[in-house]
Amino acid sequence: MPIASLSDRIAEFKRRVVELVPHGECIVGDAPALSSYGADGLIRFRQTPEVVVLAKSTEEVRAVVSLCAELGIPFVGRGSGTGLSGGAVPPAHGVVIAASAMKGIVEIDPVDRIAVVEPGVANLVVSERSAPLGLYYAPDPSSQSVCSIGGNVAENSGGAHCLKYGFTTNHVLAVEVVLPDGSVEVLGGESPFEPGLDLRSSFVGSEGTLGIVTKVWLRLLSRPEAVRTLVADFDSVESAGAAVSAIIAAGIVPAAIEMMDALAIEACEKAVAAGYSLDAAAALIVEVDGSQEEVDALYEEVKTACITCGTTKIREAADQAERSRIWLGRKAAFAAAGRLAPAYIVQDGVVPRTALSSILGRIQELANQVGLRVANVFHAGDGNLHPLVLYNPDSTQESEAAEKLATEIVELCVEIGGSITGEHGVGLEKACSMAAMFDDGDLEAMQRLRVAFDSQGIANPGKVFPTPRLCGDAPGRYRAHALELSGEAVRF
Ligand SMILES: Cc1cc2nc3c(=O)[nH]c(=O)nc-3n(C[C@H](O)[C@H](O)[C@H](O)COP(=O)(O)OP(=O)(O)OC[C@H]3O[C@@H](n4cnc5c(N)ncnc54)[C@H](O)[C@@H]3O)c2cc1C
Repeated sequence: MPIASLSDRIAEFKRRVVELVPHGECIVGDAPALSSYGADGLIRFRQTPEVVVLAKSTEEVRAVVSLCAELGIPFVGRGSGTGLSGGAVPPAHGVVIAASAMKGIVEIDPVDRIAVVEPGVANLVVSERSAPLGLYYAPDPSSQSVCSIGGNVAENSGGAHCLKYGFTTNHVLAVEVVLPDGSVEVLGGESPFEPGLDLRSSFVGSEGTLGIVTKVWLRLLSRPEAVRTLVADFDSVESAGAAVSAIIAAGIVPAAIEMMDALAIEACEKAVAAGYSLDAAAALIVEVDGSQEEVDALYEEVKTACITCGTTKIREAADQAERSRIWLGRKAAFAAAGRLAPAYIVQDGVVPRTALSSILGRIQELANQVGLRVANVFHAGDGNLHPLVLYNPDSTQESEAAEKLATEIVELCVEIGGSITGEHGVGLEKACSMAAMFDDGDLEAMQRLRVAFDSQGIANPGKVFPTPRLCGDAPGRYRAHALELSGEAVRF
């Protein structure tokens, strides 16, 4: 006999879920604890879940998802909650299935160079545990000491070294997943020659909308023989951008090329004193790796490109300690923005590399128009921008202007041939901007794939895709429709 109302179904869920998780933990009815799972790193979106399940095994995840499917209760997978697009925010009247208690490294195979890990393992732990074997896991988000492999898979996360080595999707051989109907499947395999449709790649980057990742087979790489790193200062972002183009045009693919503008440099210096020049208008961090001979040759070519483009100073990392200090500054950049303003929006967009200099000028113009400051720190080699829009949250006017500016910046990226996201995902934040990038046919095709995995629409609903809009709505960030304002229609 079906249970009719949503509140009855939720009550039934709460009664039955506890016995399905004998080894993990269920949080039911503890308001403060539930509330701590209400948001991710983008705290302006928040929704308290009905229940949080800290599962310990695939079987526990399977049992909980099956109960969600039986009762039609929406759920969201969660890793470490460092996401920056609201992807892990619970759906209304939904359940959080957190993988943070599944932290096992199942196996590290040094011969085939594969690590098999549970989804709650932190990214950096994979490299730390592989290090004694001379191996490491290449994708390196700045949040890598905290963020989980499950979250990395869901977001197809990137990092400074993805320019040369590729994003998460290039390093995930297979995933074990619990699909929204409660079935368990392995997508992909240890061999790179799996026949049939590549469903693994559909899952990577699907932001929790196709099911829950419960185990991941990761490709490991040999540690390079040599690494050299420099910081090149420039007196304009244009000349730093020109150096990026010159390096790539010379046929060099460095392990990383990162750019910071003056405001970002100031923030990083205030936070960690990495030794960056406070008088530079822009700085590039360039790293090359490989065999000693190759690295020495490439390093000289990189230096030449920087000099040709007018670098004002080159700082060369003398040893591993200095290299770590240089990276510490860059990886602290998002958190460091808190030294510049009480609040900021971390934006994520992509432009063609050749448009780097011009888009920074356009961003500055847009910021000037509304009287806000924007610090820029980005993966320059990939054209992946991270404008940090600074504002005062006590001012409603500034908060609204900041949100509007952040949206305008990503839509500008699309206008000049880029993308609304490089690595932080669409989540809740950018669902409205999907229409700026994809037409109805594209969105329809993606929805069909989603529905093939999740016919009930219970896996992380409301994320990635624009929700059905009222007739006459304009694409863009949510604003109340005229019919809502007049009380004739209600958004739910
Ligand atoms: C300071 C800082 C720096 C950052 N730097 C980078 C960077 O350099 N590069 C980058 O790409 N990102 C970066 N991020 C963003 C974030 O760390 C990544 O998106 C990361 O992959 C999220 O992992 P998580 O475990 O925290 O996932 P969560 O935030 O918990 O979840 C993120 C998404 O993944 C889904 N999800 C999580 N676990 C699972 C699972 N087991 N199964 C199915 N779906 C799941 C969630 O539903 C959600 O949609 C940064 C964030 C911060 C705060």
